[in-house]
Amino acid sequence: MKQTINDKTIKELESIFVDLGFQKFRVKQVFRQIHVNKINDFNEMTDLPTDMREQLCKDFEIQKVNLLETYASNIDSTKKYLFELNDGNIIEAVFMKYDNRKTICISSQVGCRMGCTFCASTKNGLVRHLSAAEIIDEVYELERLNGDINNIVIMGIGEPLDNFKNITKFIEIITNDKGRNLSHRSITLSTSGLTPKIYELADTGLDVNLAVSLHYATDEQRRQYMPVARKYNIVGLMKATDYYLDKTKRRISFEYVVIDGLNNRDIDVENLSKLMHGKNIHINLIPLNPIEEFKHDKTSKKVINDFKDKLTKKGLNATIRYSMGQDIEASCGQLRNNYAR
Ligand code: SAH
Repeated sequence: MKQTINDKTIKELESIFVDLGFQKFRVKQVFRQIHVNKINDFNEMTDLPTDMREQLCKDFEIQKVNLLETYASNIDSTKKYLFELNDGNIIEAVFMKYDNRKTICISSQVGCRMGCTFCASTKNGLVRHLSAAEIIDEVYELERLNGDINNIVIMGIGEPLDNFKNITKFIEIITNDKGRNLSHRSITLSTSGLTPKIYELADTGLDVNLAVSLHYATDEQRRQYMPVARKYNIVGLMKATDYYLDKTKRRISFEYVVIDGLNNRDIDVENLSKLMHGKNIHINLIPLNPIEEFKHDKTSKKVINDFKDKLTKKGLNATIRYSMGQDIEASCGQLRNNYAR
């Protein structure tokens, strides 16, 4: 079996190359080719001797994502991509440009097992984790297509903290200063609230921004729509985010998909305000993107603005994240589902 090469740190490559009898300086050369030049074919690494390239082809694999479909929005610069993995599975990713900053939204799993009732990505459960190498190539493929990006949000298909080992390895590699050298603060990881993993992430020292999908201000409501809440309650989740903030000094935001009549009532304003009292937390309001299986309407601008105003009056720090690429089903999971249908 071929060994995967594009998820190896410089240290790991060093020990592999020593065993194979390659000279030590080859490590940095290969690492540069993969992570700076984003070459994903050994034959194109023309600064390596032919016999070394041949041996690399024989023993190693650069795991790739292969472009399947591109959907470009007509209303903004958003582009959505379907990528096929080597085993035929399909994931999606989004490219967005805003104020000249390029942001990509990437998938961390094929499917998802969190079961949130309003989310398209979880409808058919989890198929498998993405490997660290696949996530790395997902980013590089988006950069091959759009040039270097400024920000990564891990808010595509999947629960990143459910794929902890691979997602942390991915972050470690993509931030390595001998390679892609992306800054930790340009990465935002979004979680549905796997509390113990938030502590673990804080302790890795990877220091990425954290977004927590809260969506409801009481455990009772959260449990109804987000099965993860049956295991981890809001008080525990808030303690974990306090720990994260303390340890990393990174920005934490709470995501709140506004669903008219369900979680934007006056009682929700009260509950949110109690919950966030005295905390320096940013609330990101998101309009609901309707999916077939969840019978609620798209959130209107008026509904979300009114809710924001009520929160602001309570002294909370809330902003609205308008969805981009509305004409191309840019809300994650929808495209993959439709393609499968
Ligand atoms: N599993 C992670 C990351 C992927 S989902 C998480 O739950 O945070 C990224 C964000 O999109 C989450 O906040 C999620 O709740 C939200 N989302 C899911 N379905 C949505 C929908 N139909 N409309 C709007 N946002 C949605």
